Amino acid sequence: MNAVLAFNVKLGRICLALQHLFYPNLCALCHSHWAIPQWGYVCEDCRSKLDPLTFPFCEVCGHMGPVNLEKSISFKCSQCTLVHPGFDYARAAVKTNSLILEVVHKFKYSQKVYLKNFLGSLLNQAADRWIKKKDWEMIIPIPLHPVHQRKRGFNQAECLARILSKHTKIPLHLNNLQRVKNTLPQACLERNDRLKNLKGAFNVKDKELIRGSRVILVDDILTTGTTCDYASRVLKKAGADYICVLTVSRGVYH
Ligand SMILES: [Zn+2]
Ligand SMILES: [Zn+2]
Repeated sequence: MNAVLAFNVKLGRICLALQHLFYPNLCALCHSHWAIPQWGYVCEDCRSKLDPLTFPFCEVCGHMGPVNLEKSISFKCSQCTLVHPGFDYARAAVKTNSLILEVVHKFKYSQKVYLKNFLGSLLNQAADRWIKKKDWEMIIPIPLHPVHQRKRGFNQAECLARILSKHTKIPLHLNNLQRVKNTLPQACLERNDRLKNLKGAFNVKDKELIRGSRVILVDDILTTGTTCDYASRVLKKAGADYICVLTVSRGVYH
């Protein structure tokens, strides 16, 4: 081995040791199995607990249908039949289960930012399955209100949208869709109050950028879909032509 090669090998080992010092080698969830950065620090055993989104589901919002419905049947759920959401369709990689909730919670509230790789890889899977890359002009993450973003230190949807943009080569558009009202957390509200809560929450700064465009709107989890619905309505009002909501996971309930 020549001197340069030996030095590079040594340097590589030092870098790895430093990396191990700052990032965990064990799975961030079960803390018992080996997990590497490429797997987003989630081991194979934990990954096997993921529940992929399967047919049948609502062709609009992706809400899962009754289990006895034929797999090939395309249907519209009662909510989408009643009022079509602002987006054209919503898709996810997996169903929301306890594993996903744990990861998203750790990612958002416990500063475990390295989990973005795991969630981002799932979002990329959703894109590979549900979108044709050439059809889209921009990726927009659901924005946080500046007060929330300062408190959390980052916007989880923006982190995921960056990974998706790198994967799909579809440009990322930040700061055009803005959160201009500091709303209450949607989870603790009834449907009517959720809509009231979001009234005036979003604004499009430069409508020219949006006009006639096909947009992928990104968030972490879609549950009631009200936030993405509302943001999509604002984007459509600003001139967006077609909107797909892409999330890591889809909640089972409206
Ligand atoms: Zn694990
Ligand atoms: Zn639906």
